[in-house]
Amino acid sequence: MITIDGSQGEGGGQILRSALALSMTTSRPFRIFNIRAGRPKPGLMRQHLTCVQAAAAVCGGLAHGASVGSQDVEFHPGTIKPGEYHFSIGSAGGTMLVLQAVLPALLRAGGSSRVVIEGGTHNKAAPPFEFVSRVLAPLIERAGAGVNARLERHGFYPVGGGRVVVEVQPASDPRPVVLTERGERLGSRATSLVSKISREVGEREVKVLASRLSLNDDEIEIRTVNDAPGAGNAALVELHYEHITELFSSIGELGRPAESVARSAADEARAYIASRMPVGPYLADQLMAPLSVLAGGRYATGPLTNHSRTNMEVLRLFGAEVRACEDGCVEVEPVG
Ligand code: AMP
Repeated sequence: MITIDGSQGEGGGQILRSALALSMTTSRPFRIFNIRAGRPKPGLMRQHLTCVQAAAAVCGGLAHGASVGSQDVEFHPGTIKPGEYHFSIGSAGGTMLVLQAVLPALLRAGGSSRVVIEGGTHNKAAPPFEFVSRVLAPLIERAGAGVNARLERHGFYPVGGGRVVVEVQPASDPRPVVLTERGERLGSRATSLVSKISREVGEREVKVLASRLSLNDDEIEIRTVNDAPGAGNAALVELHYEHITELFSSIGELGRPAESVARSAADEARAYIASRMPVGPYLADQLMAPLSVLAGGRYATGPLTNHSRTNMEVLRLFGAEVRACEDGCVEVEPVG
């Protein structure tokens, strides 16, 4: 039984999600305590509880102590089963975070799966849907697996109610993913999503995005979202290079000026552009688990974030070899 202190390092939900992912793929049970101990609302929130339930469903595993607010959970994995799954978070909790918990296992399943997840699709402190569909999925495909993510309904904080369908095809012959250069810049796109709020918010956002990122009119877009149950807003910046697409985002919230929302997405994109690295800070932590269950890989990224360092530690507890090399690359060996 692997024992994990959930308050270590970054101390967030990712420790739990990575533990679930690796527990399923290595068939090793674990106990996690102090779950999200340092967060304003410690313990499992609905999104984390859904992750545990989703993991148990995907591998026929057993979870003890999994309820909202719990800070101590024990998980015993079973055998990963491909198939049709439907997980509803029941709040605006991040659908893409639930996917983070189950995707590695589905990539190792004995057949293809189709997963429907309902909840938030554009949340603070979580990958927005487009990050998974345009950044992460193509890289997993490069490893020989198939991940096709479709957004059926947007869901913004606080109402949520979004719906995402993800089809996963395991790799029959996985290949290592090597990403040491990003190559030439091929194009950029900045988008403001506006749901049930004034279009003027979008206009102000794309103005800031265009000026801070030197974009012209055909590289910016205001997209009116009509399918979300609630109001919401997101600013997205997509950067295409020869060898990678990266995406930076910021989520609008009541009382926060549109200019500030746009500025934070633009500033993250600018920092990435200036870094000359192919893999940005969010992608760096999110590639580790999928690559370790496929054929591993190697990627160049900037200084490791707390999320990345903590994630490495958690993956290592399950026997995964993920290391930071002196040349600034992260190296991931296949696990199991
Ligand atoms: P945690 O804070 O432990 O729940 O983990 C949050 C996860 O969401 C990490 O994998 C982050 O890389 C990811 N994440 C947070 N913000 C963004 C963002 N703006 N774009 C993409 N991924 C994000």
